[in-house]
Amino acid sequence: MSLVLDERQRAMLAEMGIKLWAPSAPRVAGIAPEKEAARAGETSAGAEFDSKPTPTASLQTPAEAAIVRPPVRAIAAPLPTAPAASVPTALGPRPEGVADMDWPQLEATVAACRACGLCAGRTQTVFGVGSRTADWMVIGEAPGENEDRQGQPFVGQAGKLLDNMLAAIGLSRQVGDTMNSVAAGGDSVRADGPKDPKQGVYIANVLKCRPPGNRNPQPDEITQCEPYLRRQVALVQPKIILAMGRFAVQSLLQTTEPIGKLRGRVHRYQGVPVIVTYHPAYLLRALPEKAKAWQDLCLAMATVRRG
Ligand code: URA
Repeated sequence: MSLVLDERQRAMLAEMGIKLWAPSAPRVAGIAPEKEAARAGETSAGAEFDSKPTPTASLQTPAEAAIVRPPVRAIAAPLPTAPAASVPTALGPRPEGVADMDWPQLEATVAACRACGLCAGRTQTVFGVGSRTADWMVIGEAPGENEDRQGQPFVGQAGKLLDNMLAAIGLSRQVGDTMNSVAAGGDSVRADGPKDPKQGVYIANVLKCRPPGNRNPQPDEITQCEPYLRRQVALVQPKIILAMGRFAVQSLLQTTEPIGKLRGRVHRYQGVPVIVTYHPAYLLRALPEKAKAWQDLCLAMATVRRG
Protein backbone atom coordinates (compact mmCIF):
# COMPACT_ATOMS: atom_id res chain seq x y z
CA MET A 1 0.00 0.00 0.00
CA SER A 2 1.50 3.32 -1.00
CA LEU A 3 1.60 6.10 1.53
CA VAL A 4 0.68 9.60 0.46
CA LEU A 5 1.48 12.34 2.92
CA ASP A 6 0.69 15.98 2.38
CA GLU A 7 3.08 18.80 3.06
CA ARG A 8 1.73 19.47 6.57
CA GLN A 9 1.99 15.81 7.69
CA ARG A 10 5.57 15.57 6.45
CA ALA A 11 6.47 18.78 8.33
CA MET A 12 4.90 17.38 11.51
CA LEU A 13 6.87 14.11 11.30
CA ALA A 14 10.07 16.02 10.62
CA GLU A 15 9.37 18.15 13.70
CA MET A 16 9.08 14.93 15.78
CA GLY A 17 12.41 13.70 14.47
CA ILE A 18 10.83 10.87 12.47
CA LYS A 19 12.41 10.25 9.11
CA LEU A 20 10.50 8.75 6.28
CA TRP A 21 12.14 5.73 4.79
CA ALA A 22 11.93 4.91 1.11
CA PRO A 23 13.28 1.60 -0.20
CA SER A 24 16.31 2.08 -2.38
CA ALA A 25 17.98 -1.33 -2.51
CA PRO A 26 16.57 -3.86 -4.97
CA ARG A 27 14.98 -6.99 -3.53
CA VAL A 28 16.72 -10.33 -3.95
CA ALA A 29 15.27 -11.84 -7.07
CA GLY A 30 12.94 -14.73 -6.41
CA ILE A 31 12.97 -14.48 -2.59
CA ALA A 32 9.75 -13.43 -0.91
CA PRO A 33 10.02 -11.02 2.04
CA GLU A 34 9.06 -13.69 4.61
CA LYS A 35 11.73 -16.04 3.26
CA GLU A 36 14.28 -13.27 3.57
CA ALA A 37 13.28 -12.81 7.21
CA ALA A 38 13.57 -16.53 7.88
CA ARG A 39 17.04 -16.63 6.37
CA ALA A 40 18.04 -13.61 8.39
CA GLY A 41 17.22 -15.69 11.44
CA GLU A 42 19.93 -18.20 10.45
CA THR A 43 22.59 -15.90 11.82
CA SER A 44 22.69 -14.72 15.39
CA ALA A 45 22.58 -11.13 14.25
CA GLY A 46 19.45 -11.93 12.30
CA ALA A 47 17.94 -13.76 15.24
CA GLU A 48 18.57 -10.78 17.46
CA PHE A 49 16.95 -8.47 14.97
CA ASP A 50 13.94 -10.75 14.68
CA SER A 51 13.46 -10.93 18.43
CA LYS A 52 12.74 -7.22 18.72
CA PRO A 53 9.00 -6.57 19.01
CA THR A 54 7.34 -5.12 15.95
CA PRO A 55 4.40 -2.84 16.72
CA THR A 56 1.05 -4.14 15.56
CA ALA A 57 -1.32 -1.92 13.62
CA SER A 58 -3.73 -1.47 16.53
CA LEU A 59 -0.97 -0.25 18.85
CA GLN A 60 0.55 2.16 16.40
CA THR A 61 0.19 5.87 16.75
CA PRO A 62 -0.55 7.75 13.53
CA ALA A 63 3.05 8.88 13.49
CA GLU A 64 4.33 5.27 13.80
CA ALA A 65 1.91 4.13 11.19
CA ALA A 66 3.39 6.66 8.83
CA ILE A 67 6.77 4.96 8.99
CA VAL A 68 7.37 2.45 6.28
CA ARG A 69 9.53 -0.25 7.84
CA PRO A 70 12.20 -1.78 5.68
CA PRO A 71 11.95 -5.50 5.03
CA VAL A 72 14.44 -7.44 7.07
CA ARG A 73 17.70 -7.86 5.11
CA ALA A 74 16.35 -6.71 1.78
CA ILE A 75 19.89 -6.15 0.52
CA ALA A 76 20.92 -8.39 -2.34
CA ALA A 77 23.99 -9.73 -0.54
CA PRO A 78 24.97 -13.36 -1.12
CA LEU A 79 23.53 -15.55 1.61
CA PRO A 80 26.16 -17.51 3.52
CA THR A 81 26.05 -21.26 3.20
CA ALA A 82 26.94 -22.93 6.48
CA PRO A 83 29.68 -25.58 6.30
CA ALA A 84 28.51 -29.07 7.24
CA ALA A 85 30.59 -29.07 10.43
CA SER A 86 28.77 -26.07 11.82
CA VAL A 87 25.33 -27.62 11.57
CA PRO A 88 24.11 -27.73 15.16
CA THR A 89 24.44 -31.21 16.60
CA ALA A 90 22.66 -32.32 19.73
CA LEU A 91 25.12 -32.93 22.52
CA GLY A 92 24.43 -35.33 25.32
CA PRO A 93 26.04 -36.33 28.59
CA ARG A 94 28.81 -38.90 28.69
CA PRO A 95 27.26 -42.22 29.79
CA GLU A 96 27.71 -43.22 33.41
CA GLY A 97 29.95 -46.07 34.43
CA VAL A 98 32.90 -45.56 32.08
CA ALA A 99 35.26 -46.52 34.90
CA ASP A 100 33.72 -50.03 35.04
CA MET A 101 33.36 -50.75 31.35
CA ASP A 102 35.03 -53.63 29.54
CA TRP A 103 36.67 -53.16 26.13
CA PRO A 104 33.60 -53.72 23.94
CA GLN A 105 31.45 -51.43 26.10
CA LEU A 106 34.12 -48.76 26.18
CA GLU A 107 34.74 -48.87 22.45
CA ALA A 108 31.03 -48.68 21.68
CA THR A 109 30.55 -45.82 24.14
CA VAL A 110 33.36 -43.81 22.60
CA ALA A 111 32.00 -44.44 19.09
CA ALA A 112 28.61 -43.05 20.13
CA CYS A 113 29.94 -40.21 22.28
CA ARG A 114 28.35 -36.77 21.85
CA ALA A 115 29.66 -35.20 25.03
CA CYS A 116 31.47 -32.32 23.33
CA GLY A 117 31.24 -30.32 20.14
CA LEU A 118 33.95 -32.34 18.35
CA CYS A 119 31.39 -35.03 17.53
CA ALA A 120 29.88 -32.67 14.94
CA GLY A 121 32.96 -32.64 12.74
CA ARG A 122 34.35 -36.14 13.04
CA THR A 123 34.31 -38.80 10.36
CA GLN A 124 34.68 -41.38 13.10
CA THR A 125 36.14 -41.68 16.58
CA VAL A 126 39.74 -42.86 16.91
CA PHE A 127 39.76 -45.26 19.83
CA GLY A 128 43.19 -46.82 19.97
CA VAL A 129 45.30 -49.54 18.37
CA GLY A 130 47.70 -52.29 19.33
CA SER A 131 47.99 -54.90 22.00
CA ARG A 132 45.48 -54.50 24.80
CA THR A 133 47.77 -56.44 27.07
CA ALA A 134 50.87 -54.42 26.26
CA ASP A 135 53.49 -53.34 28.74
CA TRP A 136 53.98 -50.12 26.79
CA MET A 137 51.39 -47.51 26.12
CA VAL A 138 51.91 -44.47 23.91
CA ILE A 139 49.60 -41.52 24.46
CA GLY A 140 49.30 -38.71 21.93
CA GLU A 141 47.14 -35.65 21.64
CA ALA A 142 44.26 -36.07 19.21
CA PRO A 143 43.48 -37.49 15.78
CA GLY A 144 44.45 -35.42 12.77
CA GLU A 145 42.93 -35.51 9.32
CA ASN A 146 44.41 -38.89 8.33
CA GLU A 147 43.53 -40.49 11.64
CA ASP A 148 39.97 -39.17 11.43
CA ARG A 149 39.66 -40.74 7.98
CA GLN A 150 41.27 -44.07 8.83
CA GLY A 151 40.09 -44.49 12.41
CA GLN A 152 43.58 -45.25 13.78
CA PRO A 153 45.93 -43.07 15.81
CA PHE A 154 49.21 -41.86 14.33
CA VAL A 155 48.86 -42.89 10.69
CA GLY A 156 50.37 -39.81 8.99
CA GLN A 157 54.03 -38.83 8.67
CA ALA A 158 54.27 -38.40 12.44
CA GLY A 159 52.89 -41.92 12.80
CA LYS A 160 55.59 -43.32 10.54
CA LEU A 161 58.25 -41.69 12.66
CA LEU A 162 56.59 -43.06 15.80
CA ASP A 163 56.58 -46.56 14.31
CA ASN A 164 60.30 -46.21 13.51
CA MET A 165 61.05 -45.01 17.03
CA LEU A 166 59.13 -47.94 18.49
CA ALA A 167 60.82 -50.40 16.10
CA ALA A 168 64.17 -49.12 17.36
CA ILE A 169 63.30 -50.50 20.78
CA GLY A 170 61.65 -53.66 19.48
CA LEU A 171 58.01 -52.57 19.65
CA SER A 172 55.33 -52.74 16.98
CA ARG A 173 51.73 -51.68 16.96
CA GLN A 174 50.94 -54.64 14.69
CA VAL A 175 51.72 -57.27 17.28
CA GLY A 176 48.62 -58.14 19.23
CA ASP A 177 46.45 -56.19 16.86
CA THR A 178 44.55 -59.25 15.79
CA MET A 179 45.63 -61.39 18.72
CA ASN A 180 43.92 -59.08 21.16
CA SER A 181 40.97 -57.92 19.14
CA VAL A 182 37.56 -58.44 20.64
CA ALA A 183 36.73 -60.89 17.87
CA ALA A 184 39.79 -62.96 18.70
CA GLY A 185 38.91 -63.34 22.33
CA GLY A 186 40.15 -60.12 23.92
CA ASP A 187 41.05 -60.66 27.53
CA SER A 188 41.33 -64.43 27.28
CA VAL A 189 44.61 -63.87 25.47
CA ARG A 190 46.03 -62.34 28.62
CA ALA A 191 45.07 -65.44 30.58
CA ASP A 192 45.92 -68.14 28.05
CA GLY A 193 48.64 -66.99 25.75
CA PRO A 194 52.09 -65.66 26.34
CA LYS A 195 52.48 -61.98 25.74
CA ASP A 196 55.71 -60.60 24.50
CA PRO A 197 56.52 -57.54 26.56
CA LYS A 198 59.17 -56.52 24.06
CA GLN A 199 56.71 -56.27 21.21
CA GLY A 200 53.36 -55.13 22.52
CA VAL A 201 52.37 -51.50 22.48
CA TYR A 202 48.99 -49.87 22.77
CA ILE A 203 48.57 -46.43 21.19
CA ALA A 204 45.81 -43.98 22.07
CA ASN A 205 45.15 -40.27 22.23
CA VAL A 206 43.82 -37.97 24.91
CA LEU A 207 41.04 -36.92 22.53
CA LYS A 208 39.14 -39.48 20.50
CA CYS A 209 37.80 -37.00 17.95
CA ARG A 210 39.61 -34.67 15.59
CA PRO A 211 39.62 -30.99 16.50
CA PRO A 212 38.59 -29.03 13.39
CA GLY A 213 41.43 -27.62 11.35
CA ASN A 214 43.84 -29.41 13.69
CA ARG A 215 43.44 -26.68 16.25
CA ASN A 216 44.57 -27.24 19.82
CA PRO A 217 42.28 -29.28 22.06
CA GLN A 218 40.18 -27.14 24.38
CA PRO A 219 39.95 -27.72 28.15
CA ASP A 220 36.30 -28.79 28.08
CA GLU A 221 37.04 -31.33 25.34
CA ILE A 222 39.88 -32.81 27.36
CA THR A 223 37.68 -32.94 30.45
CA GLN A 224 34.92 -34.78 28.60
CA CYS A 225 37.26 -37.27 26.92
CA GLU A 226 39.72 -38.01 29.72
CA PRO A 227 37.62 -40.73 31.44
CA TYR A 228 37.88 -42.86 28.29
CA LEU A 229 41.66 -42.72 28.33
CA ARG A 230 41.69 -43.32 32.06
CA ARG A 231 39.69 -46.50 31.51
CA GLN A 232 41.92 -47.60 28.64
CA VAL A 233 44.96 -47.27 30.89
CA ALA A 234 43.19 -49.21 33.67
CA LEU A 235 42.33 -52.02 31.23
CA VAL A 236 45.74 -52.25 29.56
CA GLN A 237 47.65 -51.97 32.84
CA PRO A 238 50.85 -50.95 31.08
CA LYS A 239 54.21 -50.94 32.81
CA ILE A 240 55.13 -47.66 31.19
CA ILE A 241 53.39 -44.75 29.46
CA LEU A 242 55.15 -42.65 26.89
CA ALA A 243 53.39 -39.29 26.81
CA MET A 244 54.04 -37.52 23.51
CA GLY A 245 53.70 -33.78 23.05
CA ARG A 246 52.66 -30.88 25.22
CA PHE A 247 48.91 -31.51 25.31
CA ALA A 248 49.17 -35.19 26.14
CA VAL A 249 51.80 -34.52 28.77
CA GLN A 250 50.08 -31.58 30.40
CA SER A 251 46.67 -33.17 30.51
CA LEU A 252 47.97 -36.48 31.87
CA LEU A 253 50.15 -34.85 34.50
CA GLN A 254 47.78 -31.97 35.26
CA THR A 255 50.48 -29.37 34.85
CA THR A 256 51.27 -26.35 32.74
CA GLU A 257 55.02 -26.94 32.80
CA PRO A 258 56.71 -27.19 29.39
CA ILE A 259 58.04 -30.51 28.13
CA GLY A 260 61.63 -29.32 28.47
CA LYS A 261 61.14 -29.06 32.23
CA LEU A 262 59.35 -32.38 32.59
CA ARG A 263 61.68 -34.62 30.57
CA GLY A 264 64.28 -36.84 32.19
CA ARG A 265 62.17 -37.79 35.22
CA VAL A 266 59.65 -40.51 35.93
CA HIS A 267 56.13 -39.15 36.54
CA ARG A 268 52.98 -41.10 37.40
CA TYR A 269 49.49 -41.42 35.94
CA GLN A 270 47.10 -43.67 37.84
CA GLY A 271 50.15 -45.21 39.45
CA VAL A 272 51.79 -46.04 36.09
CA PRO A 273 55.24 -44.55 35.38
CA VAL A 274 55.09 -41.86 32.70
CA ILE A 275 57.99 -40.73 30.54
CA VAL A 276 57.57 -37.37 28.86
CA THR A 277 58.85 -36.87 25.34
CA TYR A 278 58.42 -34.75 22.25
CA HIS A 279 55.63 -35.26 19.78
CA PRO A 280 56.80 -37.00 16.59
CA ALA A 281 55.24 -34.19 14.52
CA TYR A 282 57.52 -31.77 16.34
CA LEU A 283 60.52 -34.06 15.80
CA LEU A 284 59.84 -34.00 12.07
CA ARG A 285 60.38 -30.22 12.18
CA ALA A 286 63.17 -30.20 14.76
CA LEU A 287 65.50 -33.00 13.77
CA PRO A 288 68.22 -32.22 16.37
CA GLU A 289 65.66 -32.97 19.11
CA LYS A 290 65.54 -36.61 17.97
CA ALA A 291 68.58 -37.29 20.14
CA LYS A 292 66.61 -36.13 23.17
CA ALA A 293 63.67 -38.33 22.16
CA TRP A 294 66.08 -41.27 22.02
CA GLN A 295 67.25 -40.43 25.57
CA ASP A 296 63.60 -40.45 26.63
CA LEU A 297 63.07 -43.90 25.09
CA CYS A 298 66.16 -45.16 26.91
CA LEU A 299 64.82 -43.82 30.20
CA ALA A 300 61.51 -45.56 29.50
CA MET A 301 63.27 -48.88 28.81
CA ALA A 302 65.34 -48.57 31.97
CA THR A 303 62.19 -47.80 33.98
CA VAL A 304 60.44 -50.92 32.63
CA ARG A 305 63.50 -53.05 33.40
CA ARG A 306 63.64 -51.73 36.96
CA GLY A 307 60.01 -52.78 37.32
N1 URA B 1 49.00 -36.62 16.58
C1 URA B 1 48.57 -37.19 17.72
O1 URA B 1 48.87 -36.74 18.81
N2 URA B 1 47.81 -38.28 17.60
C2 URA B 1 47.48 -38.81 16.45
O2 URA B 1 46.78 -39.81 16.43
C3 URA B 1 47.95 -38.21 15.28
C4 URA B 1 48.71 -37.11 15.37
